[in-house]
Amino acid sequence: MPLSPEPLALLSLVIPCFNEEQVIAETIRRMTHFCSELSDLEAELIFIDDGSQDGTLSLLREYAAKDSRIKVICFARNFGHQIAVTAGMDAARGDAVVLIDADLQDPPEVIHQMIIKWREGYDVVYGTRTKRKGESFFKRSSARGFYRLLNQLSDTPIPLDTGDFRLMSRPIMDSLKAMPERDRFVRGMVSWVGFKQTAIAYERAERLAGKSKYPLHKMLRFASDGILSFSTKPLQISIALGMLAACIAMVGVFYAIGMRVFTDIWVEGWTALMIAILFLGGVQLICVGILGEYIGRIYNEVKQRPLYIVEEYLGFTDQQPTHSRSPTIKYK
Ligand code: UDP
Ligand code: MG
Repeated sequence: MPLSPEPLALLSLVIPCFNEEQVIAETIRRMTHFCSELSDLEAELIFIDDGSQDGTLSLLREYAAKDSRIKVICFARNFGHQIAVTAGMDAARGDAVVLIDADLQDPPEVIHQMIIKWREGYDVVYGTRTKRKGESFFKRSSARGFYRLLNQLSDTPIPLDTGDFRLMSRPIMDSLKAMPERDRFVRGMVSWVGFKQTAIAYERAERLAGKSKYPLHKMLRFASDGILSFSTKPLQISIALGMLAACIAMVGVFYAIGMRVFTDIWVEGWTALMIAILFLGGVQLICVGILGEYIGRIYNEVKQRPLYIVEEYLGFTDQQPTHSRSPTIKYK
């Protein structure tokens, strides 16, 4: 009896989309073209519509109806990039999973090189940006500074200048699924998991069309998630800051007593007093604020809410998604 051929390994591409109607058609064209170039791998494209308010979802719906490789997870609202990526990874069945943005800043063609590394036995192949085209000086320099600061603070070394564009093996996926935290900083979590990881360098292209979906407040939130989820050093820094303020205050006290005892000059005036009060008040507020950030995150965790709510799964069969953190809903 002829042996049935070995099933091909499956590659899942996870693509978060938030108001990307201007790029989505070209993205799908480039990605499906990339998939048809794969000779010895099957592919699935998992798009996550992160509560888009433009035509993104209806376009995705159209493409999913035409191509069985295209699957769509529709969120009930905007949950943010990192959660969208998590939902995609939860639903992905691939032996390897690639995270890639919808705006074609990360060229799909680079994935060929990632696959070669994966076949050599690496579990994570992440793309390191050598150049970032079309991004403002502020974005480039703040990102550069952030990755360096994060590495100083974090106990887990996190690669520099590396985004979420990466290929990961099944063991990494299964490890990530066991990590239920709500404030998710996916690239740090992947570093924390371990296994064999390697980098490949690539040039980050310009966004194809539309605007960045990461305004300053989202960037700051993302940066604080990175730092606070991977380090308790800010707490230690706040203790050090408090000690420094106390030391400065003690110097002032000794100075005032010394002047009183050994000279005829009195330290007087309200200026010094005000400065001391403001300085100590400031230090205390900063420290309480840092503490509050951690407590806020603990509060978020203990609420035990689902990480995301899916309104609809499109293009998935009944068996999928096998692992979902959301209490959902409709399959189509
Ligand atoms: N994105 C998302 N939810 C959000 C913000 C962004 O799913 O709340 C997606 C977005 O559609 C894109 C990716 O995350 O595919 C990266 O966003 P963007 O390109 O705007 O960020 P940048 O490259 O400017 O850092
Ligand atoms: Mg982008």
